[in-house]
Amino acid sequence: MLGTSTGAAEHVHVLGVRFDLMPRSHVVEQILGWVAEGSRHMVVTAGPELVMQAVADVDLQRILHVADLVTPDGVGIIWAARRAGRRGVERVSGVDLVEDVLAAACERHQPLRVFVLGATPASLSACLAEFARRYPGCRFAGHHGYFAPADLPEVLEEVARFRPNLWLVGLGQPRQEKLIFEHLRDLPACVGIGVGGSIDVWGGTIKRAPAWVRRMNLEWLYRLLRQPARWRRQLALPRFAWHVIRSRRQAS
Ligand code: UDP
Repeated sequence: MLGTSTGAAEHVHVLGVRFDLMPRSHVVEQILGWVAEGSRHMVVTAGPELVMQAVADVDLQRILHVADLVTPDGVGIIWAARRAGRRGVERVSGVDLVEDVLAAACERHQPLRVFVLGATPASLSACLAEFARRYPGCRFAGHHGYFAPADLPEVLEEVARFRPNLWLVGLGQPRQEKLIFEHLRDLPACVGIGVGGSIDVWGGTIKRAPAWVRRMNLEWLYRLLRQPARWRRQLALPRFAWHVIRSRRQAS
């Protein structure tokens, strides 16, 4: 894991972060392939906010460098890829990716064991109930994300005892990526994926933007309107755009 090549996947670098450009269906196959061979891998879905965090955080840069897959999650990354000459790049968000992996696993009778770590206790149990209903072929367990730092070893013990194939971590970026990076090697082999606020979406605590809003690439605006407290975080978007434009100017 961590640094293993993903074969013939194409890449684009955005402000120093390497993105793997594969259709979502290929990412799903890759993950199910890793599960079938019982190997240990880390998947990051990264948008402009995470890229801007990485610009200022060398530890995070290193993690993104060694992650096995970094998928473009956000219209800003698609835009930056297009500026670098890559057209037709598909957005691969954590919500869609995990739903597709679970649906495909059920369809082909590949029973997955999935441990979900993160969100409030209420949101997590709603998510686990929803998963059990939607994907009856898979087994689910979880732990909420509001534990004290001193309790982390116990939480990781619980994950290890469950022996998951998929370890979904939704603690917010970049904390979840750092936690997966630091502890994946101590767990039985599994695929670790940072899923951010997706647990709240699956549990129904947060509503995802309607499909037409997503198609118009306006999910960021929808999230801002529904959670105005995010405005400060979303300042990363214009900063990201400015950095991308400037870096291309310097390169030309
Ligand atoms: N969260 C958590 N423990 C914490 C802080 C946050 O489990 O100590 C959860 C929070 O409940 C939410 C997720 O982490 O489910 C973060 O969601 P957000 O939308 O901020 O993450 P993003 O997708 O933007 O990284």
